[in-house]
Amino acid sequence: MARIVQKYGGTSVGDIDRIKIVAKRIKATCDEGHEVVAVVSARSGVTNELIAKAKSIADIPSERELDQLLAIGEQETSALTAMALHALGVGAVSYTGAQAGIFTDKVHTKAKIKTINAKPIEKDLKKGNVVIVAGFQGINEEGNVTTFGRGASDLTAIALAAALKADKCEIYTDVDGVYTADPRVVKQARKLAEISYDEMLELASSGSKVMMSRSVEFAKKYGVIFEVRSSFNHNPGTIVKEEVAYMEKVVVRGVAVDKDQAKVIVSNIPDKPGSAAKVFRALSDSNINVDMIVQNVGRQGVANLTFTVPQTETAKAVKALKPVLSAIGGGQVTIHEHIAKLSVVGVGMKTHSGVAATLFQALADVDINIELISTSEIKISIVIDQARADEAARVAHTAFQLDKA
Ligand code: ASP
Ligand code: MG
Repeated sequence: MARIVQKYGGTSVGDIDRIKIVAKRIKATCDEGHEVVAVVSARSGVTNELIAKAKSIADIPSERELDQLLAIGEQETSALTAMALHALGVGAVSYTGAQAGIFTDKVHTKAKIKTINAKPIEKDLKKGNVVIVAGFQGINEEGNVTTFGRGASDLTAIALAAALKADKCEIYTDVDGVYTADPRVVKQARKLAEISYDEMLELASSGSKVMMSRSVEFAKKYGVIFEVRSSFNHNPGTIVKEEVAYMEKVVVRGVAVDKDQAKVIVSNIPDKPGSAAKVFRALSDSNINVDMIVQNVGRQGVANLTFTVPQTETAKAVKALKPVLSAIGGGQVTIHEHIAKLSVVGVGMKTHSGVAATLFQALADVDINIELISTSEIKISIVIDQARADEAARVAHTAFQLDKA
């Protein structure tokens, strides 16, 4: 007998028929003799609808009330899933985050989990019940309902798997697992049998969002091994775990493309100590996330700074930079939105050389120009023309021998 935590995402529980299918899957796991704790998301679209309702009343709704409201999306699914299990003759009890003993800090709409009291769930498991937990929510020390941020039902599942010392954690979603590239773009993309936490995090930050990054970070910190798989079929998924030596044999695990970035060029700024500090201080004061940064060699006392920001934040960036540039005595801002960031990721880069050369040559062969480059220990990212991004992904996929198993 194993203790299994399963998590079903919004599309997996999208309507009553889907909830009945999920209940059957849970029953099948119970029938194999396992203990099951299932974490559920709100039905897809429900959280957005609730937010829209709140915003139709107030531009900036009270965050306490917003949490109180958003938490019901997951509560609806959890109660319905329990009822669907009853209909199949399976004992099941639904829990809110608070009832599941998930205690958080006080920060509404993006609370962090502080502790979990696993006793109530343990008690129900002992009685032979399946426990269905409403994801993405907890309670703070003042007794207020808190939520963890968009997509954070995954976090509930990973945290409960850690607290309950589960033998297995399965994240059910609408994709089969993590792929070597986006299969809609790269036909030869393959599903990975395994991937390390760090690779998964780098791919997520590079545009391949399968799961909320905070959940993967949490899993890494507590050593929770989990599997990402589909609730729409019975294919095995992708196991996410700590890096092991043999993982380094593969140089590149995956290729990701992010088309939601924009390039900002700040040209002709005075080439003296403090200029860059002031530029990036202003951006950080406006909570703008800067990704790749390149500064060219200064000539005639001026230099150019180029960096990328999320496309949604370009207007904010221009506004933040204006006063700084007049304060430091000059400089112009230009924005390029038709760019894409292409990243190749793999723990094997730590021990293999020539990865950058292979990537750059493959792109040179098809005449794709590289505008910016940045690297980490396990990732190389480049900025290219957005119009050629899909082609670049296919070329890189082939260059790193990802086309064949
Ligand atoms: N319902 C929440 C959201 O849509 C949490 C989740 O689905 O994971 O963000
Ligand atoms: Mg979701």
